[in-house]
Amino acid sequence: MENFKIDVDADGIALITFDVPGRSMNTLTGQVMDELPQLVERIKTDDAIKGAVITSGKASGFCAGADLGDMASGLLSGSGDLQAAYDAGWKMNGALRALETCGKPVAAAINGLALGGGLEVTLACHYRVVGDSPKIQLGLPEIKVGLFPGGGGTQRLTRLIGVQAAMTAMSAGSSWRPNDAKGAGVVHEVVPAGTEVEAAKAWIKGGGKAVQPWDDKSFKLPGGGPYHPAGIQNFLVGNAMIRKQSYGNYPAVLNLMKAVYEGTQVPMDAALRIETRYFIKTLMTPEAQGMIRSLFLSKQELDKGAVRPVGIPQSDPQKVTVIGAGMMGAGIAYVQALAGIQTILIDRDQDAADKGKAHVEELLKKRLSRGQLTQDKYDALLASVVATTDYDQIKGSDLVIEAVFENREIKADVTRRAEAQLEPGAVFGSNTSTLPITGLSEASVRPEDFIGIHFFSPVDKMMLVEIILGEKTGPAAIAKALDYIIKIKKTPIVVNDGRGFYTSRCFSTYVAEGLAMLQEGYAPALIDNLGRMTGMPRGPLEMHDDVALDLSVKIAKQTAEDLGDAYVPLAGAEIVRKMVEDLGRYGRKNGKGFYDYDTKPKTLWAGLSDLAAVTINDSTPELIEDQKRRLLYRQAVEVARCWEEGVIDDPREADVGAILAWGFAPWTGGPITMIDQIGLKAFVEQADVYAERYGDRFQVPQLLRDMAARGETFYGNFAGAKAAA
Ligand code: NAD
Repeated sequence: MENFKIDVDADGIALITFDVPGRSMNTLTGQVMDELPQLVERIKTDDAIKGAVITSGKASGFCAGADLGDMASGLLSGSGDLQAAYDAGWKMNGALRALETCGKPVAAAINGLALGGGLEVTLACHYRVVGDSPKIQLGLPEIKVGLFPGGGGTQRLTRLIGVQAAMTAMSAGSSWRPNDAKGAGVVHEVVPAGTEVEAAKAWIKGGGKAVQPWDDKSFKLPGGGPYHPAGIQNFLVGNAMIRKQSYGNYPAVLNLMKAVYEGTQVPMDAALRIETRYFIKTLMTPEAQGMIRSLFLSKQELDKGAVRPVGIPQSDPQKVTVIGAGMMGAGIAYVQALAGIQTILIDRDQDAADKGKAHVEELLKKRLSRGQLTQDKYDALLASVVATTDYDQIKGSDLVIEAVFENREIKADVTRRAEAQLEPGAVFGSNTSTLPITGLSEASVRPEDFIGIHFFSPVDKMMLVEIILGEKTGPAAIAKALDYIIKIKKTPIVVNDGRGFYTSRCFSTYVAEGLAMLQEGYAPALIDNLGRMTGMPRGPLEMHDDVALDLSVKIAKQTAEDLGDAYVPLAGAEIVRKMVEDLGRYGRKNGKGFYDYDTKPKTLWAGLSDLAAVTINDSTPELIEDQKRRLLYRQAVEVARCWEEGVIDDPREADVGAILAWGFAPWTGGPITMIDQIGLKAFVEQADVYAERYGDRFQVPQLLRDMAARGETFYGNFAGAKAAA
């Protein structure tokens, strides 16, 4: 075996060290799955072995779960042969069932994070000891990529902690810290980090039992199962909760519930077969395949610099200046300080700069209070941020990011003053959300080192950063910007310049389509419900309130000015203009928008019907499906246009960017995956119906018609070699 090392001690206890060669973290690769049955066979049949302790040889963790890359290339790309997929899926369940029934006591010494399949391996052990370390998390996060636990987790966790607690954890994909895991009954013992193996061995020597609770004749499911008066409530309520959260968009969560419901009525062997069947069924859904590809594989590739220009030496930014210590600038200062980057935070006056640093302090304090930072580390990080007005302090910066007011002249002035301090090769980035980068770079004397670095708000929570290339931006600046984003642990996408770049432009179509529906007479509540039912995080009107209505009036005016005769006002724009200019309703920021925010929860503003009469309030299933599709199609058409115009050219960036930046319905795998899965021909036909009904904004670009005629797909055409191009 290459992945497991076995050392039998004088007491006959086999220490099994899980250590996948050549990787920094253990995952359940195809080869590990092949070796697992051999390992179990050895424990069972070797007379010298009286009991076993499984631990990890990695400093980084116990095991991060299934290797989704292997799973994708194996199971997902298979011929659709269900029996073969079931047999492959059963491999782990069969091996782990053999482990827990091998007749010898087996303990897990969990010395690092154990997630997904990693935790499932330990659940098949008779005893679990975990080290007391803030770095350790235990959980079953599979739901986040459109799957659910398929290595016995649905059955063992349920039998350990009951249906309600297990379903709550699995359907959210949440994780426990060691002491919480002990409190929840997921592990037996928390011990000082580094003493896990010793404690696990002590349990075996103390006569640890080689029988799982569920294999004991007297076993009763905690909280009761489906035929128990209290137990059935979990399923009734659970079904409703799942519906409320997923709107039926995620087959994984429904199949998870079915596996638990059916599995808890039968003995473990049958329960595991049920789990494997639902698991394979889920894995074969377009939803799981799209989510695994975008949210795991593509995201991971982008996180590792898949789109970085080749042939440029790696850089490691040590000192970065942020100019503008407002909401965005302070957030940026925080994330980069956290990544160990020395930060100069500049504003117009010392008070404003200090205010920015105070925000950094507040966020760091939160981490300190949660035990995620030691006091020493907290002190060092806080000291690494210098709040000042002095541009001389910029000297030696690898990168400057400006986040001053959204105003061309102010940004030009800041660019000139900052560049005067920069050494050759240092990069200047603008966090503008709307101003084209090529235009801003005119203020620069070194436009090849000028680039857009667009963060999202709140910076500490939003995972995506959109890098925007001006006409003259050079490959070295792209590489350095990417090295920086990767260092601060965000996911980068690289797009070309254009009005609204990629993310803001496409996101705005969702909000605008909601407005058009309002103008057409749809009831506001129906519009926002439809939005949520598509899988978007919030309805279009709610999101409009969040972005701010005055901002959209301002952008409309600016666009009208820039485009002149070519400008076509958005349907419903007049409603928003009246709300802002006549009624002072700016959105969430002043507590008055489409909603009133002085109540909890917020309520729709009653005066809205005076501005937009409601004529469509009945919601037949046909109407619902049609209008949900309309909201998603409108965004996807804009994405396709961005593609045709060269704003984006990599399907991974388009999909990951859409989901992470504006919450494009994650179950689709992203807009490009959605178009591919619908099929280009069918997509174009439906978009044409909408164009006829609602206007030219649904007109697909010629590129899509040509691809449809040739029977192509975006991913099918994609060579995956942007960086080399
Ligand atoms: P903000 O008003 O909160 O902060 C701007 C800061 O810049 C203020 O502290 C101000 O004092 C400072 N400033 C102004 N002129 C300056 C100068 N000449 N020198 C130094 N400092 C100066 O604004 P914000 O929301 O943080 O936005 C900043 C930038 O980020 C804008 O370009 C905005 O478009 C962009 N952006 C904002 C968001 C968002 O959601 N707010 C998202 C992405 C990008």
